[in-house]
Amino acid sequence: MIPDRAQNQLSDWLEQLRWYLWGCREGGLRDWQPYAAKPVEKTQSSDSASAMEKLSRIGVELHECTRCGLHRGRANLVFGEGSAQSGLVFVGEGPGADEDRLGRPFVGRAGKLLDKMIFAIGLDRSRVYICNVVKCRPPENRTPQADETATCAPFLFRQLEALAPKVICALGLSAAQALLGTTEPISRLRGKVLSWRGIPLVCTYHPAYLLRSPQQKAAAWQDLKEVIRLL
Ligand code: SF4
Repeated sequence: MIPDRAQNQLSDWLEQLRWYLWGCREGGLRDWQPYAAKPVEKTQSSDSASAMEKLSRIGVELHECTRCGLHRGRANLVFGEGSAQSGLVFVGEGPGADEDRLGRPFVGRAGKLLDKMIFAIGLDRSRVYICNVVKCRPPENRTPQADETATCAPFLFRQLEALAPKVICALGLSAAQALLGTTEPISRLRGKVLSWRGIPLVCTYHPAYLLRSPQQKAAAWQDLKEVIRLL
């Protein structure tokens, strides 16, 4: 009998291996490396400092924010994290329980899967930027309501303007719809390169959805390949 903890660890490794092999298959097995993504960093250090300053100003404005009702249930506001110099930004929907507790984006089970997806394209969290449309956890992880998204999204837009990435990857329907100002379903938004204020935008499934629907991981990998191509 394998203890639960060991089973979880094993399934974690297998998942990591699956994404890794996808990357190897696309990049070639020759050097047994993950997908050989080109350098993702886009700016000189002075640009990076300016992006950091802008992000820090937005962070100050959001400090103890009570602009929408989501502030009532939060333990921590989850602003976003990663490299201000990165050419790649992932945008999710909003914090879940683990994110709310720790004040960091994508640190729960879905976050672990996102880490593997990022690793499969030859990067890691320190080389990308990760944030959400709403910065406070919706109760019971429900989808943010239209007024909550409308109130918080302008801060996301300012983050993206400060970061000026080469590519934005929207994780899930809420992020895609908020960025595009549309009500189209994710099936209509995936599989093509869209644009957010002139920046290429690729929409894919949210890692939490991929955990529930693992059969869609191959489709998500196709989306990541598009991200790589754009980088
Ligand atoms: S979700 Fe955004 S707008 Fe609403 S309280 Fe939190 S930071 Fe403020």
